[in-house]
Amino acid sequence: MSRSDIDVLVCGAGAAGLTLAIELARRGVAFAVVDKLATPFPGSRGKGLQPRTLEVFEDLGVLPAVLAAGGPYPQLREHRADGSHVDSPLGDASPTPAEPYAQPWMCPQWITERILRERLAALGHTVQGGCELLALAQDAHGVDATLRDAHRKRTLRARYLVGCDGGRSTVRQLLDVAFPGHDLGMRALVADLTLEGLSRDAWHRFGSDDPARQLALCPLAGTELFQLQTPVPPEGEVDISLPALQALLAQRSGRSAITLQAVHWASVYRMSARLAARYRTGRVFLAGDAAHVHPPTGGQGLNTSVQDACNLGWKLAAVLAGAPDALLDSYEAERRPVAADMLGLSTSLLEAARRGELKRSRATRQLDVGYRGSPLNLEAPAR
Ligand SMILES: Cc1cc2nc3c(=O)[nH]c(=O)nc-3n(C[C@H](O)[C@H](O)[C@H](O)COP(=O)(O)OP(=O)(O)OC[C@H]3O[C@@H](n4cnc5c(N)ncnc54)[C@H](O)[C@@H]3O)c2cc1C
Repeated sequence: MSRSDIDVLVCGAGAAGLTLAIELARRGVAFAVVDKLATPFPGSRGKGLQPRTLEVFEDLGVLPAVLAAGGPYPQLREHRADGSHVDSPLGDASPTPAEPYAQPWMCPQWITERILRERLAALGHTVQGGCELLALAQDAHGVDATLRDAHRKRTLRARYLVGCDGGRSTVRQLLDVAFPGHDLGMRALVADLTLEGLSRDAWHRFGSDDPARQLALCPLAGTELFQLQTPVPPEGEVDISLPALQALLAQRSGRSAITLQAVHWASVYRMSARLAARYRTGRVFLAGDAAHVHPPTGGQGLNTSVQDACNLGWKLAAVLAGAPDALLDSYEAERRPVAADMLGLSTSLLEAARRGELKRSRATRQLDVGYRGSPLNLEAPAR
């Protein structure tokens, strides 16, 4: 067998890559985790941690920090054109011994990722930032990855490689894995703002009767920020400067008393729903957004990515320690159907949101995710 430098190369240090790195670190696997960004991504993006993810975080040893850093979701406040409003709770499920985390917990994504990095550091590992994967080639025994950082280009040989490199995944493209699905024909603006003139006791929604002008402002737990979300035209430049966002906010909310103070992060993104044709190509795997992209409705993206990584991590460690390679095939068999269901769920929630309804079903909490059809399960006995 040819020599490998490491057992696993994790490409991408978002929520999926960091979770996978922690799983590998605590099982003593020799791995490296690289990210092309020199410094961590700053935006709030996936702010909702679903109950199933909280269970995973408990197991990873990061739950106390996540609970301390975030907070529960506030009530939803629908503001009407006549100035009145209606409040509604986002959910009423209570914890039980079987389901100790009944409700989603809010924690901006950059804080969740910071906590995951801190856990990784406590396990003795760090992300190699500013290091981009450019190419890969695999044979029967390993994968040669071409990496480039500020100083040099080099080849690292790993027994397995996992692409946790997001929706535009280089790994998926290098493998030529199809990414079928469709563009949902919608773009949205998401921004983290400080502002005055709006209470922090509710998730404020304006203009729910007009899908093109809806605007939501959610107080981000653990911070002084609000996360703004609003649709923007499908094509053309979007001005994300403070004066432009102030004007957009006043126009769509009908409130001139809300004053923006600073724009900490802003991004415009196009919504699509796509699922990778396969999650495994020989010794290379896809996890997280690299394997599935979808609209943010229902807060499923980060959660599904963390759970992909959690599923794959222990299996890689077990196979490296001598378990049959077929164990790794159960990753796609278990996780791809979950992503397919999640794409349907988030797309139908997007349609509902466009009609002005904000639904949070039990399915969004991901507590019923399970693997009855998994090849790891034994056939039910006749008796
Ligand atoms: C603007 C925006 C708003 C969003 N809003 C929500 C929301 O409200 N709710 C929700 O649940 N989800 C939301 N999401 C989705 C959520 O953020 C993602 O599902 C989640 O980040 C997926 O995690 P990931 O680790 O798979 O990928 P990512 O977080 O995308 O991480 C991928 C990492 O790979 C790195 N990388 C990429 N290419 C390479 C390469 N060649 N070499 C090395 N490193 C590489 C990138 O720098 C990045 O750090 C949003 C996403 C965006 C972009």
